Amino acid sequence: MTNPKTRKFRPATELIHAGSLRSSFAETSEALFLTQGFLYDSAEAAEARFNGEDPGFIYSRYANPTTDMFEKRMCALEGAEDARATASGMAAVAAAILCQVQAGDHVISAQAVFGSCRYIIESVLPRYGVEVSIIDGSKPENWENAVRPNTKVMFLESPSNPTLEIVDIAHVARLANSVGAKLIVDNVFATPLFQKPLELGAHIVVYSTTKHIDGQGRCLGGIILSDKEWIEGTLQEYFRHTGPGMSPFNAWVFLKGLETLNVRVRQQTYSAGKIADALAGQPQIARVIYPGRADHPQADIIARQMSGGSTMIAIDLKGGKKAAFAFENALQVILMSNNLGDAKSLITHPATTTHKNLSDEARAEQGIGDGLLRLSVGLEDTDDLIEDVTEALKAID
Ligand SMILES: *Cc1c(COP(=O)(O)O)cnc(C)c1O
Repeated sequence: MTNPKTRKFRPATELIHAGSLRSSFAETSEALFLTQGFLYDSAEAAEARFNGEDPGFIYSRYANPTTDMFEKRMCALEGAEDARATASGMAAVAAAILCQVQAGDHVISAQAVFGSCRYIIESVLPRYGVEVSIIDGSKPENWENAVRPNTKVMFLESPSNPTLEIVDIAHVARLANSVGAKLIVDNVFATPLFQKPLELGAHIVVYSTTKHIDGQGRCLGGIILSDKEWIEGTLQEYFRHTGPGMSPFNAWVFLKGLETLNVRVRQQTYSAGKIADALAGQPQIARVIYPGRADHPQADIIARQMSGGSTMIAIDLKGGKKAAFAFENALQVILMSNNLGDAKSLITHPATTTHKNLSDEARAEQGIGDGLLRLSVGLEDTDDLIEDVTEALKAID
């Protein structure tokens, strides 16, 4: 048995140990409790459990020991009081919004968000009588201008997918607070290592744990983090009765993923910075957008709210779709896939894949041109990756 914790630990340490809940076998690695239900010693014990007088588990749609370990480890990393893990990132986003709005409420969202998030806001919410405003979130005054007396929720993603646009989180959080709305931040691209939305004043943080937290392309998952009052008072009943919870098997995979998150994300970010620098200024390239570079248009906000760059790079090629396809097809290490955050470097052409369903206007608004590529940098040798992109540029004629 280890000594009781008396000190506060840094993220790299919390990622290895926080939330561990050992069984009577005192196993080293986290146990996988692949069970739907739990037994009671007596009828009285069952009654006490259901009355909330005994804190044990009831049913894995509500909570499960392996999932609980994952939630607690994420809370330690994020500085959140409580969390609920979900079956996918989209289950997290949907539950975080839907659990707190009703007909007649108003939601404001940045336009540069993940496609499925935009679908929930633009297409699902209005069907249930929720008013929505979709704005260019990179302009702070747009948030103020969109506020209505019935504004309940504000939603943003920063850096955004795929153009790595930044929203000033502290600014929007202050506004949300002042009008009694809740700010939800989708923090996937920044990762919990490089950006802490709760410290910046946001109320709720959501992740697709499918991305960097798994980090090896295996399981889908998500998580919602906030204060205990909101999780228990607003989310909990909705969550228990609509069933978006994470499988314990996936939670176990994510626990192991968290143990290596720090080393993976730092190495991937190091390579991404080197690749962005190698690409910038090449004649075939109109623009490299990378949050770690001084030429990012919002470098001042990045310096205030992020403690690291990103594993993601947006590359805008001068030759449009033809150049983008020639470049993608010439790559030998980097693979084509719409996923991200993987140990394998992955590239996608948003205009014909992930952002294909947006209208031409919406794509133009978000700066998703035909020459834009989104690169998720993996764990391969940095120099092999640099060679792969610089050689592939030569295939563009
Ligand atoms: C992938 C992603 C999601 C959705 O997550 P899933 O796990 O695929 O459901 C939401 N937001 C962002 C920013 C993402 O990258």
